[in-house]
Amino acid sequence: MLLAGDVGGTKTLLGLFLDSPGRPRLVDACAFATRDYPGLGEVIEAFLRAQPSPGPRLAGASFGVAGPIVNQVVRLTNVPWVVDASEVAARFAIPKVTLLNDLQAMAYSVPVLEPGEVAVVQEGRAVGTGNAALIAAGTGLGEALLHYVGGRFIPSPTEGGHADFAPRTADEMALLEHLVSRFGRADYERVISGPGLANIHLFTHPAGCAACDVGPGQAAPPSVVSAAALGRRCPACVRALEIFVSVYGAEAGNLALRSVATSGVFVGGGIAPKILPALQDGRFIAAFRAKAPMEPFLSRVPVSVILNDRAGLLGAAVHASLRGS
Ligand SMILES: [Zn+2]
Repeated sequence: MLLAGDVGGTKTLLGLFLDSPGRPRLVDACAFATRDYPGLGEVIEAFLRAQPSPGPRLAGASFGVAGPIVNQVVRLTNVPWVVDASEVAARFAIPKVTLLNDLQAMAYSVPVLEPGEVAVVQEGRAVGTGNAALIAAGTGLGEALLHYVGGRFIPSPTEGGHADFAPRTADEMALLEHLVSRFGRADYERVISGPGLANIHLFTHPAGCAACDVGPGQAAPPSVVSAAALGRRCPACVRALEIFVSVYGAEAGNLALRSVATSGVFVGGGIAPKILPALQDGRFIAAFRAKAPMEPFLSRVPVSVILNDRAGLLGAAVHASLRGS
């Protein structure tokens, strides 16, 4: 049996998987509130205690973790946890334990996703022997590369979400100035993430928003903004979501160029499935392609949204399976 985890600042998802060729099979999964536990060890203990006796024999475990991993130790961002792979291995007698960057873990799911788990944004023409890339907006913005080497994809993490936001239109240039005056600098995460959508909303609503029930200078929850925009209840909310989608598409295109992602660009994270109609209305792909002279190249890159909200957990299980084989 394999243990997999997707460890985030808010939620920690653990799963038990049966190792099976190609794609590990989920046996049981459970979500835990990260802050309710002093460490990952206590979460694993609670999860394993709930399993039928005598408990699973674990051949390996992999965890995607939101934080910088150094020598298989990670201090979580915003949560007072230090996770050490060797401690987890010793405490639960698991032969192989690996900590992965959370986006790198999600990238391991990409090659095993089934057609029903993705929504096509651009069909393109996949080159099976080319690289792929993953971009995922949620609480933050993550980016990962899938290098095609020796007949398989090798996921590798990046910190691309913190690269400088490059505006392309007068609107986006004004947004950049607004963000720099607020934060000192603007990385892509200030625009493409849940908090990023709230930032754009403040930019398009200096006097507040009745549809989102916020006053002047007040931030609205991102899910409220996207609901108001998709329901077309407020023109300035519609504009905020349009800017968000357009910048998301442009940065996905940048990632495709930097990685030569001829096998495809995958859009993961919690936001994309919730705003799928806005990602499929043409604006995202127009911004993705508008990079002359590379337009013909980008028109051939397949682009899909990952619909499986447990892709990070699945990817960690895929990693544990590959490491054990
Ligand atoms: Zn509004």
